[in-house]
Amino acid sequence: MSDEKRIARYLGQDGEILEGIVEGDEIEEVSGLDPMLRGGRRVGGKRKLAGVQLLPWGTGRKVVGVGKNYAAHAKELKSEVPKEPLLLVKVGSALIGHGQPIELPPASSEVHHEAELAVVIGKRLRRASEKECAAAVAGVTCLNDVTARDIQRAEGQWTRAKGFDTFCPVGPWVAVGLDWSDLRVQCRVNGQVKQDGRTRDQIFPVPHLLAFISAGMTLEPGDVVTTGTPEGVGPIRSGDTVEIEVEGVGVLRNPVIAR
Ligand code: ZN
Repeated sequence: MSDEKRIARYLGQDGEILEGIVEGDEIEEVSGLDPMLRGGRRVGGKRKLAGVQLLPWGTGRKVVGVGKNYAAHAKELKSEVPKEPLLLVKVGSALIGHGQPIELPPASSEVHHEAELAVVIGKRLRRASEKECAAAVAGVTCLNDVTARDIQRAEGQWTRAKGFDTFCPVGPWVAVGLDWSDLRVQCRVNGQVKQDGRTRDQIFPVPHLLAFISAGMTLEPGDVVTTGTPEGVGPIRSGDTVEIEVEGVGVLRNPVIAR
């Protein structure tokens, strides 16, 4: 697709939050992007990607997730496949960007990775149809729905287990103009493949999910919806490096530390 592009948020040299277009190993500042991450004007001032701090998407907005959206993952959790999407919320204070460390808290002894395709909303969606929802996706990115599995099992709901600081890495950027309906989603820990699924195996595809969410919860431009994890979830430990790769998007890489 000719209008495919990658848009990143990053920290400017004076600590300001910038948006830029990523090409190869460089990033160039763009101003005036619309909420669908289209339009905009190149400002110049190309920088090497390796030298910039990429920021997560969803900051100041909400991040809505869905549990058990792949049959094989529901099975590995010894759960039934849900009849309707099972929603969860990731809190804003958990967001981190590419390269920032996932911190293992003393409160849990079993923290798991969950590789997911996440979509960035570009248009307001309230009680919207699936068709309206599909047209409101600004772009897609990688998200690691880090989860304290022991706490999730012990408690009736998942807010704490999925809400610890640093438990929501998002990035490295947003791919605009990419068909998300059949993308490979992988997790690697220290280079070893742990999860390897395809978005076509989702029980509730993106338009259905967004329509279901918007029936009760208005989705606003900038909100992020993460679409569930394929099978193969497992523990991460201090010293590990976790990579979430979504085909056509890129690799979200975060080190893991105990803190
Ligand atoms: Zn998840």
